Amino acid sequence: MKGPKIKVQGSRFKVQGSKAGTAPIPISEVGPKLSSPNSELRTPNSKRLGLFGGTFNPIHLGHLRAGIEIQERFSLDQVLFIPTAVPPHKKSDNLLSFAHRLKMVRLAIAGYPFFKASDIEKKRTGKSYTIETVRLFKEKVQSTADLFFIVGMDAFLEINTWKDYKDLFALSHFVVMDRPGYHRRHLKEFLRREVSPEIDFYPQEGRFLLPNGCSIYISPITLLNISSTRIRALLNNHQSIRYLLPEGVENYLYKKGLYAS
Ligand code: ATP
Ligand code: MG
Repeated sequence: MKGPKIKVQGSRFKVQGSKAGTAPIPISEVGPKLSSPNSELRTPNSKRLGLFGGTFNPIHLGHLRAGIEIQERFSLDQVLFIPTAVPPHKKSDNLLSFAHRLKMVRLAIAGYPFFKASDIEKKRTGKSYTIETVRLFKEKVQSTADLFFIVGMDAFLEINTWKDYKDLFALSHFVVMDRPGYHRRHLKEFLRREVSPEIDFYPQEGRFLLPNGCSIYISPITLLNISSTRIRALLNNHQSIRYLLPEGVENYLYKKGLYAS
């Protein structure tokens, strides 16, 4: 039986003909796009949706290049950039308003067909917990799409501090991207300790597999040592930020006088 259709409208996924339940459903086993089409493990679900959360304060080329490479490698139908409205963990100094950060995401991704921006976190009050966002997406797409949560190694190694983080692994697969300065070698031990002692590792696929079918892929990407912290510091110091982020975002920052002291 065919599942309900996902309709992409603006930044939102709409599910037609589905009664979204609230209970997490077990996720199916899927794999990345491999070189031979025959060896590709495809999900019975028709869509693959990447969720790329972040403060995006501001968005930069490290995020954008990573998004493209992950989209291609995992054959994602879409990557949603989801700015955090109220980051639970970050200090708020220098945190631009949600509206500015969302606007810059929109400027940065304009015209790239696989990218969309989501304002889902703005619609909730209080701190923006990832688990709540992922639950909402899971309810929206139910059995019509598999979710892939895209995260850098630095952020993933702190996942044990996120609210109800273990529940995330029942809702979404993970793609953990390399990031300069963060090593993969601690990951196996970290996952066994903080997520499940029963995790298997498939080195050739760079993939951990949980007993419920959740895959956690470690993905190489072009390592770009760019961070929003550095961009904010440069601006604060009246130094150039050119070529670290899209020109449209750079112009927006100057036009609005953002981050400058
Ligand atoms: P900040 O310095 O303010 O923490 P950031 O550059 O780390 O900013 P975030 O908005 O915190 O950007 O990151 C969102 C997500 O993107 C995180 O999962 C992070 O690991 C990942 N990420 C950020 N920069 C890069 C990069 N250069 N390469 C790969 N992943 C990145
Ligand atoms: Mg960060």
